[in-house]
Amino acid sequence: MKKTPFITLEKAKEIAAQIPTPFHVYDEAGIRRNARALKEAFAWNKGFKEYFAVKATPNPFIIKILQEEGCGCDCATYTELVLAEAAGVTGHNVMFSSNVTPEKDMRKALQMGAYINLDDATYVDFLAQMGDVPETVCLRYNPGGSFSLGNTIMDMPRDAKYGMTEDQMAGAILRLMELGTKHFGLHAFLASNTGTNEYYPELASQMFRLAVRLRNATGAHIAFINLSGGIGVDYRPEQPSCDIRVIGEGVRNRYESILRPQGMDDIAIFTELGRFMLAPYGHLISTVLHQKHIYREYVGLDACAADLMRPAMYGAYHHITVLGKETAILDHVYDVTGGLCENNDKFAVERSLPAIQIGDIVAIHDTGAHGHSMGYNYNGKLRSAEVLLHPDGSFQMIRRAETAADYFATLDFAGLEYKW
Ligand SMILES: *Cc1c(COP(=O)(O)O)cnc(C)c1O
Repeated sequence: MKKTPFITLEKAKEIAAQIPTPFHVYDEAGIRRNARALKEAFAWNKGFKEYFAVKATPNPFIIKILQEEGCGCDCATYTELVLAEAAGVTGHNVMFSSNVTPEKDMRKALQMGAYINLDDATYVDFLAQMGDVPETVCLRYNPGGSFSLGNTIMDMPRDAKYGMTEDQMAGAILRLMELGTKHFGLHAFLASNTGTNEYYPELASQMFRLAVRLRNATGAHIAFINLSGGIGVDYRPEQPSCDIRVIGEGVRNRYESILRPQGMDDIAIFTELGRFMLAPYGHLISTVLHQKHIYREYVGLDACAADLMRPAMYGAYHHITVLGKETAILDHVYDVTGGLCENNDKFAVERSLPAIQIGDIVAIHDTGAHGHSMGYNYNGKLRSAEVLLHPDGSFQMIRRAETAADYFATLDFAGLEYKW
């Protein structure tokens, strides 16, 4: 499908007059529309809840919008827990899905009354030693082997560090029941950025069968199944996009055929989506600073991999629109780069684009998740601002850009107490 930016050149210029490029901008209307579609797709399940994976876009203004749409937070660290709490998300509106968990992080999650999602069976003793074993505990599953849909191998759980084996889960449940736990959740994240409507239904079917086996083996009450993240987005224009209604119906079919006959139809479905909730509703807006003509044609932006790491890190495709030239013919081929002293700092390689001039403003698509949040300070690059575009066209800066003072804030060194 053709990819159309949610922002016009005029609006980008209006924002840039106050908040210089580069900046990430988020489309509030799109975020809300999508969150509602997810909720509707799972409305058949009484306890359904999405726990937004905070790591995708850790900004309290975004968390607040999602909270208004009925979402909680999925956190993995102390800092993410503090962020959720600051946004007013606490108690069972928080899922704590951590691994290699420090005691300080676990204490914070327990103190907030979050659902604790244990990555390993040894954490049962950790909870017992801390003297705080919750009434409901979630356990993370790793089935080993490969995860396939039809003939396609999607991922290799046996190579993943996460979760525990089925035997370990059964053991953990029995021990937790001795310690007073009454309800259990089951969690698994078996494939990332999937582009098919079949991922969740297949995962659900494996998890529902697991729930039946664990209930039969231990007598435990399974209260929820957390399908975690993994629903992908169409980064490329030619890629099909997932249909959340079809996905919701697919999960419902498995629920009806596997859980209902077992009398287990009180189980709530939880999700922990990050990318699906935010990626399409963010653009990285950047200005063309430089052009050069050597063995290839280069366009240099004021943004770099420190603002969006995915292309440099995974060779990920992000669509680029030159604002104001949406309908121009794509008759030029450019490498679009940032200014890091790293040759992989390229947003696009040999990309067909319209003729570009210095001063043009580009929108890099699908940067709403794992965009700003993966930013870093290599080469002394400073992280960009984040801007929220409201449905009425007004906008609000929801994080200022870093300054050199931020970069030096962790140093205590004569000469660096400079007035920036
Ligand atoms: C990253 C992560 C998610 C979100 O994944 P997406 O691919 O962004 O949907 C959910 N749960 C856990 C435990 C994660 O680590």
